[in-house]
Amino acid sequence: MEQMMRDFFLFLSKNKTLTKLAKKYGLRFGASRFVAGETIEQAVDVIKELNRKGLAVTIDYLGEFVDNEQEANEMANHSIEAIQAIGREKLNSQLSLKMTSMGLDISDDLVMKNMRRILDEAKKYGVFVTIDMEDYSRCQKTLDIFKQLKKEYDNVGTVLQAYLYRTEKDIEDLKDYRPNLRLVKGAYKESPEVAFPNKKDVDENFKKIIKMHLLNGNYTAVATHDDAIIEYTKQLVKEHNIPNDQFEFQMLYGIRPERQEQLAKEGYTMRVYVPYGTDWYGYFMRRLAERPANVAFVLKGMLKK
Ligand SMILES: Cc1cc2nc3c(=O)[nH]c(=O)nc-3n(C[C@H](O)[C@H](O)[C@H](O)COP(=O)(O)OP(=O)(O)OC[C@H]3O[C@@H](n4cnc5c(N)ncnc54)[C@H](O)[C@@H]3O)c2cc1C
Repeated sequence: MEQMMRDFFLFLSKNKTLTKLAKKYGLRFGASRFVAGETIEQAVDVIKELNRKGLAVTIDYLGEFVDNEQEANEMANHSIEAIQAIGREKLNSQLSLKMTSMGLDISDDLVMKNMRRILDEAKKYGVFVTIDMEDYSRCQKTLDIFKQLKKEYDNVGTVLQAYLYRTEKDIEDLKDYRPNLRLVKGAYKESPEVAFPNKKDVDENFKKIIKMHLLNGNYTAVATHDDAIIEYTKQLVKEHNIPNDQFEFQMLYGIRPERQEQLAKEGYTMRVYVPYGTDWYGYFMRRLAERPANVAFVLKGMLKK
């Protein structure tokens, strides 16, 4: 049943008509629990509050299925606006973004042009930029873009997903780039030909790649709400005397906020991923796919209307 619901919400997350409708009608159905607002001003208020609680942030202007050049350029402009807000308001925040929103499905030149604009601006303000990882069909292209940009900029990192068979090799292949990587379980629906179908195997591979990347001496963001993985990381760094400034924990805005504050109080860098913008639909559907309890929350919200 849980798997069916997961597949259903992941299927919905890709629906372009619903994506357009959601943009038109604004944040609904309890999405504001996971999305910090539709404007940069609303997101800045949320970030200030999180920073006040000792939490670092990575901000993301939401956008998916960008299929024309003008839209991709506008998406890049929004990221630049977010970087300038971080600088102006002196926020403790990085930036995250998706390659499809920069024009990955249109042309490589367009993506590189937009990314260089963003990274130049980010460099001015000392802002670090993480390239989110999307579905498997875009993985190699995203890594190729990352490698090229990493040769030109030191303020860029990316994400690897524990559910993919290829990830262990990617950790090895990227090692010499000294990359700052966010490691996650993986949020898309993938075929068993490319990804572990069983949760248990994903969790084991997650632990394996955390260990590999940390012991390679590279900066590691462990992005998870899973206490077993958090405890594993804590033990691992203790055993190997890995200092607190070589890793951090990351969680999504609206998920386990008390746990986020607790980890910050324990002295760990705890970064919250704060998405905002009108294109909230796909992101929201993936959050519902992850946890049936979130669906009950949404249904309650709908009934209240
Ligand atoms: C900062 C960040 C960035 C991400 N970036 C990407 C990306 O670029 N690409 C990508 O594919 N995916 C990304 N993800 C999503 C990720 O791949 C997972 O889909 C998502 O994090 C859920 O997996 P999990 O590790 O939290 O564990 P899960 O297996 O979903 O959850 C494990 C356990 O965590 C606890 N838990 C989870 N949610 C709650 C809750 N609401 N309340 C209480 N306990 C809870 C429960 O004990 C649960 O059993 C990102 C996630 C984070 C946190």
